[in-house]
Amino acid sequence: MINVYALCTGSIELDRASMVSDLEPGQPWTVPVTSFLVSHPRGKLLFDTGVHCQARLDPLTRLGAERMKRLTVKSQAGDDVVPQLATLGLHPEDIRYVANSHLHFDHCGGNEFFPRATFLVQRPELESARRPGFVPSYSPSPIDFDHPLDYRTIDGEHDVFGDGSVILFPTYGHTPGHQSLRVRSGKQAEIVCASDACYTRENMDRDVLPKILWNASVMSESLAALRKLRDQAGATMFYGHDPAQWQATPRAPAPVL
Ligand SMILES: [Zn+2]
Repeated sequence: MINVYALCTGSIELDRASMVSDLEPGQPWTVPVTSFLVSHPRGKLLFDTGVHCQARLDPLTRLGAERMKRLTVKSQAGDDVVPQLATLGLHPEDIRYVANSHLHFDHCGGNEFFPRATFLVQRPELESARRPGFVPSYSPSPIDFDHPLDYRTIDGEHDVFGDGSVILFPTYGHTPGHQSLRVRSGKQAEIVCASDACYTRENMDRDVLPKILWNASVMSESLAALRKLRDQAGATMFYGHDPAQWQATPRAPAPVL
């Protein structure tokens, strides 16, 4: 029996045009930050760890003045990964695997709370994060990911539990080594957690990229592959930061699968 739960691990206000690049700038927009907990008979996988709780309490120290010009953390108390897991009766030591879609601050801020987990990250993502300036336009904050954790780099598609039910797969472009998650459970339809390979349904439906990206043509290819999973393979798509979808999504402790 496999279950998947959606967790609220933050809330951020930013300019809508930064996410949907052909819109008029100047429209503030509050978007959810989400993580997913996959419960599999062989262990639990957490996909993304959200915004660190310090970003809500002391944003200047955590995020820095430059980043605060572009966004505001709007999270409420409890909107971070450890209390969210507690809604499922889980503690950090119950998590066997953590997979980061990528290493932007709102996807790996809670990594440090999982010192006993094995971290699964695409090789180009970790290698570029560890060499600041190596990849232009990509320099994630060491304070979020650079802890003494058991990082295992993976190359391309990765079958987490070896039975084809929980698959990490590359969706590069937003960052050099972004990955998404596919979960299949019995006869039920498959779900895909796109993370920032597709911020919102609008990005996919209108084929519009965000402003925040590493490589536009690579990201376009990833977006097209995700669209195929949704429109041809019938997968249910969870977008990375889609307020309308989040409103309609069952939250933990209710499962989405
Ligand atoms: Zn991102």
